[in-house]
Order: sequence, then structure tokens, then C-alpha cells
Amino acid sequence: MAKKKCVVFDLDGTLCDLNHRLKYIQCFPKQSERFHSSCVGDTLIPRVFELYEMFRNGGYAMVILTCRPKKYEHLTIEWLKTNGVKYDVLISSDKQELTDNKAKKFYKEHVIEPEYEIAFAVDDRKMVIDMWREEGITCLDVAGNTH
Ligand SMILES: [Mg+2]
Repeated sequence: MAKKKCVVFDLDGTLCDLNHRLKYIQCFPKQSERFHSSCVGDTLIPRVFELYEMFRNGGYAMVILTCRPKKYEHLTIEWLKTNGVKYDVLISSDKQELTDNKAKKFYKEHVIEPEYEIAFAVDDRKMVIDMWREEGITCLDVAGNTH
């Protein structure tokens, strides 16, 4: 049987506006704990969410793949619920030793692809976008970041 098609969305900088908490990682020493635990205060980026809903209403399985550490997943779940973001799969990272592109490639291969055919990916981070494209997956860059 053919696998169901999915679309893979990133959170930070893609579906979520995290500008209010960047100050916690742009300082020295970094306050990583505070940076991540403040994610419940993020705002939803309306145009990206519109695209998200178009895919969801089009029958794709919605996969949210974030490099936020797994220990904050309960806060992510709360945020998704509060903001009305419905999804099929949520993957947080327990691969903090890996850069985002390598961690996402790992989850792509070991968690997503065994279940789904990836039709499309949406991200804001250049190294991750490059990874998707190197893997032959069409990726929409929502931000045009250079790193
Ligand atoms: Mg991001």
C-alpha cells in the first residue's frame, strides 16, 4: 500500500514568532532554559499557518519537526493546542549533540519516512533547507535567512 503523503513543518521562526525570547540566547551566558520555556508566549505566524491549513485541508498528514529539546515538548503541545494547530505527528529532538540539519535528517530517515512519503517541507533555517533540498525534497524557505 502506498504511504500517506505528509508535509513537514518547522516551529521556531516558521510557524512561531520567537522574537520575544531571542534575548535569552543573545546574551552571555546564554539562558537556554529560559529561552525554551518561554515558547508558550510565541505568536503564531498567520501567513505560514494559512499555508499549513491549506495542506491540512488538502488531506496531507501534518508532521511538526522541531529541534526544541524533548524536555519542553509538553510546552509545545500546550502552545499548539492554545493556537489551534492540529497535527498528526510532533517530533521534538533528543539529539542535542547534533546540528539542526543533522538532527532533522535523522528524524526524517528514522521516524517520518518509515510511515509517510514526504511531499514538501517548510522551514526558515538555511542549513535545514539545504538538507531538505540535498535529500531531493522540495522545501519552502519562509524567511530567507542566510544561516
Ligand atoms: Mg526554525
